[in-house]
Amino acid sequence: MSAPPAPSPSIWIAADAVDRARPRSKQRQLGASDTVCERRAAYVYHGWPRTDHVISRAAILGTYIHEGLTTAAKREFGWLVEKRVADEEIRGTIDIVQLDQATARRLPRRLRPKVPADVNTVEDIKTKTVRRWDRVLRYGATDAELRQVHTYARVLRTHGFLAVDGQRALARLGPIPVERIRIRFIDRDSGEEHVQEIPYDPQRAEEARWWLQRITETKSPEDARRDFYGPGIDTVCDFCPFATACWGAPAAGRPVQANIVRTDADVAQKLADYTAAHEQWSAANRIKKFVRKAVDATPEGQYGAHLLEWRSPESAQEEPDFRQIIELYDDLQVPIPTVPDKERMVKALITAGIAVPMRKIKKAASRAISVSTAAK
Ligand code: SF4
Repeated sequence: MSAPPAPSPSIWIAADAVDRARPRSKQRQLGASDTVCERRAAYVYHGWPRTDHVISRAAILGTYIHEGLTTAAKREFGWLVEKRVADEEIRGTIDIVQLDQATARRLPRRLRPKVPADVNTVEDIKTKTVRRWDRVLRYGATDAELRQVHTYARVLRTHGFLAVDGQRALARLGPIPVERIRIRFIDRDSGEEHVQEIPYDPQRAEEARWWLQRITETKSPEDARRDFYGPGIDTVCDFCPFATACWGAPAAGRPVQANIVRTDADVAQKLADYTAAHEQWSAANRIKKFVRKAVDATPEGQYGAHLLEWRSPESAQEEPDFRQIIELYDDLQVPIPTVPDKERMVKALITAGIAVPMRKIKKAASRAISVSTAAK
C-alpha cells in the first residue's frame, strides 16, 4: 500500500521566509518605521538581538498591498516610489514622493511625474484592518504615523535623497523643499481609500527629532519608556520582535505584565494608575450616557463629521423558538423533557412569603480586581 500524500505546507511558511529575507527585516540601523515605541526604538539603536519572531500575516499582506500599489503608482503616474533617505541619526524608505513641476524639470525626463504635484509632497501608505478603519475615519493618522512621515519629510528637506545606486540622479537635486504630507489609508478588507493631507509642520518635525534624540541619549533600552501596555493588550506588542526582552518570559499562569511589579511601591503606583484611569473612564462614561439621552429623538443620518445609527438589540439577537421545538419533538415522537422551571418555583415561594432555601456554590471565574481608597 502506498503512503498517503504529505499534507500541503502552509503558504505562510514561504511568505514568512521571504519577509525575513527583506533588507528591511535585516536592517539593524534605526529606521523611521521603528519610531512607534520609545523602548523598541532603543533596542534597535543599542543593537540588541531580536528575542521574538511571530509571523504577522496581516503585516505581510500589508507589504504585498503596498508593493502592488506603489508599483502601479510608479507605472501609471510616474511618481517616485520606495526612495531612500538618511541623516546621521535615522534612515528610511519613503513610499511615494510626488515632485512639483519646478523640481521635476531638473530631472531627466524619464524620472519626471506624469502629473506633477502643486507642491512637493511626501506620501506614506498605511494599510488597516476593518477593525481599525472606523478609528482612521474618525481621528486620522496617529501621533506615531505623523512622527514617521514628518521624519521622512524633514530628512528630505535637509539632506535630499540618499546617494545610492538607483537614485543618484535624485540625490543630485540636493535638499527638496517638501511642503505637504499625505497619508493614504487603505482598508485591507474592502480596499476603501482615505487620504489625509496636511501641510508639512516644522514644529512637529522638530518634535519627532527630539523624540529620536531622547533615544540616542539612553545608555540602555531600559532607560526608554514603554509606550504600550504589552502583549495581550496592545497588538503592536503581540508582534514586537523585542517583546521578551521588554517584558521577560511569563511566570506559570501569569501575564508578562506581572513581571514588572516587584515592590510594594510598584503596586502602589499601579493602583494609583488604576484609580486615575477609573476616574477618567467614569467621567467619559457620564458624557456618553448624557449624549445617548440627549439625541434620543434624533433620526439616523450624518450630522457634521459624524454618522448616527440606531442599533436595535432585538433585531441582532436570536433565541430558540420553543413552540416550534415542541412541535418538532412531537413530530419526531421524541419525549419532551419535563425539567422543573427553577425561576418560576423561586418566584412562587417569594410570592407566598416562604423563605427560599439557599446553598453555597463555587463558580470558576477569573478574579476581578477591586481597588478602593484605604483608610488613613
Ligand atoms: S513589547 Fe511593546 S512596549 Fe515593549 S518594546 Fe515592544 S512595542 Fe514597545
